[in-house]
Amino acid sequence: MSELVVHDDAIRENTATFARLTRGRLMAVLKADAFGHGAIAHSVLEAGANSIGVTSISEALALRADGVTAPILSWLNTIDADFASAVQAGIALAVPSAAVLFAVASASRATGTQAVIHLHVDAGMARDGCPARDWAALCSLAREQEATGAVRVIGIMGHMSCADSPLNPQNTRERLVFEAAVRTAIRRGLTPRIRHLAATAATLTGVGANFELHRIGAGLFGIDPSDSGTRLRPALTLTARVISSRELPAGAGVGYGLDFVAGQRTNLAVVPLGYGDGIPRDASGRAEVFARGRRRAIVGKISMDMIVVDTGADVLHPNESVTLFGPGDRGEPTVAEWAAWAHTIAHEIVTRVGSRVSRIHRVADTVNASEQDAA
Ligand SMILES: *Cc1c(COP(=O)(O)O)cnc(C)c1O
Repeated sequence: MSELVVHDDAIRENTATFARLTRGRLMAVLKADAFGHGAIAHSVLEAGANSIGVTSISEALALRADGVTAPILSWLNTIDADFASAVQAGIALAVPSAAVLFAVASASRATGTQAVIHLHVDAGMARDGCPARDWAALCSLAREQEATGAVRVIGIMGHMSCADSPLNPQNTRERLVFEAAVRTAIRRGLTPRIRHLAATAATLTGVGANFELHRIGAGLFGIDPSDSGTRLRPALTLTARVISSRELPAGAGVGYGLDFVAGQRTNLAVVPLGYGDGIPRDASGRAEVFARGRRRAIVGKISMDMIVVDTGADVLHPNESVTLFGPGDRGEPTVAEWAAWAHTIAHEIVTRVGSRVSRIHRVADTVNASEQDAA
């Protein structure tokens, strides 16, 4: 049985850290199943977040169904998204284009419920958000819709491309684009109260500071993209149980392609987690796990459903617990190490753990206790 233990206490502590850093202007971004951490909306709201951000209406509706009454903002919706359900559930919507504006306004008219919107400007990363050249026209159209009562523009949002490198001059350019976009909106008759540009990196480095809201995702889960040195706690521990062990003679190979060949006699343990569970295959040949008190190399190619661990002189028992990653305080690998082994970022490691792994929420660090139960 493989388990992803979610350390709710770590997420609460990180949330409180960001509530302090942002002086209470904290939107918790819980997209992608809260970066793979599951049901933690109530925890972050209790710990100091004031609102929640997601990237789809279905995620927002699921939070409402779970009893979340705090403000929710959804961005990145397709033109035929269920805006009617969103406005009826009191979900604020990001509007990056005239097409989305009209779709939201007509949902508002159809339901008789005014839509609350945040206009989204592209500050320079050419991804989501209204291109600067179309911005003034979008503001005018939004003002017209506001005059009909269909929508109310309460916010303006942007997102930064290089905030993890605080000295990059692109940060200043994007901030200027964003500030100009706010001035344009006001000149066109809008009264946005909530300006928000910063995510985790821009908050920790300060390049996106001094607006009314910060959208924080990664940081709540202990990920600091800017290596700012802020004390954040990783919030996941991934464990699995040994299926079987065997002795490997010198000169024998392991796994597809026999990438690993034993230089001397050793012992192997088979652990039932693979790339089908989100363990990055690209980490083959580098990655380690923590078993019976020490680091052990994963040998051979990472398969879809299993990895093979070189346990040296030790013979692990069937059902013995193996830790793939955790906070690192017992010596186990961290998500950051896995990211380096797989040539990716921590965000990708935490969001890709698959559905075969059960999520278990713990308020205190009782992982050791559960390992003792199993032994
Ligand atoms: C994901 C996302 C965030 C949160 O970013 P983090 O770096 O994880 O804090 C904020 N804003 C937008 C537009 C996003 O897509």
